[in-house]
Amino acid sequence: MKFSFKPNKLGYAVIVVVIMITAIVLFRKKDTVSQLISKGINYLKEKSWDMVSDQRISTLHPLIIGKAKEFIIRAEKELGIKLRVVSALRSWVEQTALFNQPFDGKDNDHDGQIDEADEKVTNAKAGSSYHNFGLALDVVEIKNGKALWKNPNWSKIAALGKSIGFEWGGDWKSFKDKPHFQYTFGKTLAQLRDLYQSGHRTGDYVNLA
Ligand SMILES: [Zn+2]
Repeated sequence: MKFSFKPNKLGYAVIVVVIMITAIVLFRKKDTVSQLISKGINYLKEKSWDMVSDQRISTLHPLIIGKAKEFIIRAEKELGIKLRVVSALRSWVEQTALFNQPFDGKDNDHDGQIDEADEKVTNAKAGSSYHNFGLALDVVEIKNGKALWKNPNWSKIAALGKSIGFEWGGDWKSFKDKPHFQYTFGKTLAQLRDLYQSGHRTGDYVNLA
């Protein structure tokens, strides 16, 4: 069957008017339209709302990059929460440098006060954090351009992260590290250190397969 479309003059006039109205509506809603288009493109490229987070996620262990991306993308889609990755891989070299840094006078544990817990930038030696193996990331909700460290949404964020398979630092008994999520593959830090130091690794990433 052949499809033929031969409108008369009135038909052409109607088509032209419809196209013009559509163009005017799209132009007036151009911000919404461009947002939708960029959302679509980001979705296809598996990008989150945030380039900074995407860049940091790319430093993680290759086996958890997909899970970290899923976390950030689903937080926005399902919870309406824009998460930013504030820390991902901290290489052994970087961690050693941090450990050796003197107290910087900052609220390093983000509890709203400068106290003993802030005395060092970190108390962790290289290899004593899942960050050193690219297996942990720290996140925070960004709202109106501000990072919400004290956030009633932490439990929702945690539930989503845990559903993807991350362990949450907020569940720790001694020091609750709410921004922290780690994916351990059932390995203890001692086991990871052994793998790292015995050369079972590719760059900073230990071989887990
Ligand atoms: Zn962390």
